[in-house]
Amino acid sequence: MAEKKRNIIYLDNSATTQVYPEAAAAAMEAMTAIYGNPSSLHGMGIQVEKLVTAARQQVAMLVGCKKEAIFFTGCGTESNNWALKGIADAYGARGRHMITTAIEHPSILETMKYLQQKGWEIDLISPDEYGVVPAEAVIEKVRPDTVLVSMMAVNNETGAIQPIEAVGNGVKKKNPQTFFHVDGVQAVGKIPFELNRLPIDLLSGSGHKIHGPKGVGFLYVAKGVRLVPLLSGGGQEQSFRSGTENVPGIVAMGIAAEKIGKDLKEKQGQMAEIRRGFIAALLDYVPDCVINSPLDETGAWPIVNASFPGVPSEVLLHYLEEDGIYISAGSACSARKKQYSPVLTAQGLADELLSSAVRFSFSYETTVEALSFTAERIAQVVQEVRSFRI
Ligand code: PLP
Repeated sequence: MAEKKRNIIYLDNSATTQVYPEAAAAAMEAMTAIYGNPSSLHGMGIQVEKLVTAARQQVAMLVGCKKEAIFFTGCGTESNNWALKGIADAYGARGRHMITTAIEHPSILETMKYLQQKGWEIDLISPDEYGVVPAEAVIEKVRPDTVLVSMMAVNNETGAIQPIEAVGNGVKKKNPQTFFHVDGVQAVGKIPFELNRLPIDLLSGSGHKIHGPKGVGFLYVAKGVRLVPLLSGGGQEQSFRSGTENVPGIVAMGIAAEKIGKDLKEKQGQMAEIRRGFIAALLDYVPDCVINSPLDETGAWPIVNASFPGVPSEVLLHYLEEDGIYISAGSACSARKKQYSPVLTAQGLADELLSSAVRFSFSYETTVEALSFTAERIAQVVQEVRSFRI
C-alpha cells in the first residue's frame, strides 16, 4: 500500500532548498535532450554553450555584475576555497596576512587553518552579542602586508547581516591593495547585491541555497583580480576552472537565479514582516525563550535562531518532526557533530542556551499559517518537555 503523503512544513532552507520545478525541468533537458559538451564544435555543443552563457547572464543579473565576472564551480565550498587559496598563491609575494571572522562557515575557517599551516598569519575577529562583527574591529587589523579580508554577508546560523559595505570601504581606504572576499552563500537571492558598485573583489554563491541543484556554485571575480586555479586541465571557464562543465546544474542554477531575483524584488518586505510575526509569536507563547538572531534590520529575513531553556535542541527537533515540521539544531554541517555551535559560542551564549538552540530558516514560499502552527506546537512541546523535569 502506498504510504500516505503528509504535508510537511520545511523550515530548513538554509541547509538546502527545494529545486524550482522550472530549474529541474531545465536540468532534465540538459541531461536528456540537449546533452552535448559545451566545448564541442558541432551544433549541439554550440547550443549547450549558449545555455551556459545564458545561465552566466542570469547569475550575473542576480548579483549585479557583468557575466564575464562569473565563474562556475562545484559548490559554495569550492568557491570559498578557491577565493582564499587562489589569492594566496597569486599574491603571496605581497605579504602573508589575512583577516576573517570567528563566525565564518567551515569552508572558510578550515581553509584559513590550512593557510596558517603554510605560514600565513590569520586574524580572527569576534562578533558582538547579536552576532554582528563590528566593521571597525576588522578594519583596525588591516596592515600593509594584509593580502585578503574574508567576511560572510549573512551568517548561516543566526541570519545576522554583516556590515560588508563598511568593511570593504574601510579596508580599501586603509590598504587599497588588500582584496575583499565575501561569502554570499546565505545572502544571494535573499538580500540585494549590486556588485558593480560594492567594494567587493570576490563573491561566493551556491546553487542549492537558491532553489537550484546541489553540486554547483559560482565565484564572482572582479576585473583585474588574478586567481591561481584550483583545477588545471582542459582550460574551461577561461582556463580558471578546468573540468567539463556541470551543464545541468549550471543551467538549472541560472533559471533559479532569475526566479529568485524576481521574488527578492517583490517579496523581501513581506518576508521581513513574516519573520517579525514569528519572533513575536515565539516570545508570546514561550516568554523565556531567547532569540539569538538580531531583532532589528541586521537580521536577514530567512533565519531565526532561538533557544528554549530546558529543552535540548534535538528533543525539540524530533518532536516537531513528528508533526512534519523540519528545523535544524545548529548549522547543517555541524548538526551531526556533538558539539556546541562555534558561531553561538563566539556570540557568548551560556551553556543552557547553546544546548537548546535551534534554527528556523525560511524560503519565499514560507507562509504565516505554517509559522503560526509551528509556534503553537513549540509552545506545547516546551510545556510537555519541561513537565518531565521535577
Ligand atoms: N558558506 C556558507 C555561509 C554556507 O552556509 C554554506 C553551506 O551551508 C557554504 C558556504 C557551503 O556551500 P555548499 O554547500 O554549496 O558547499
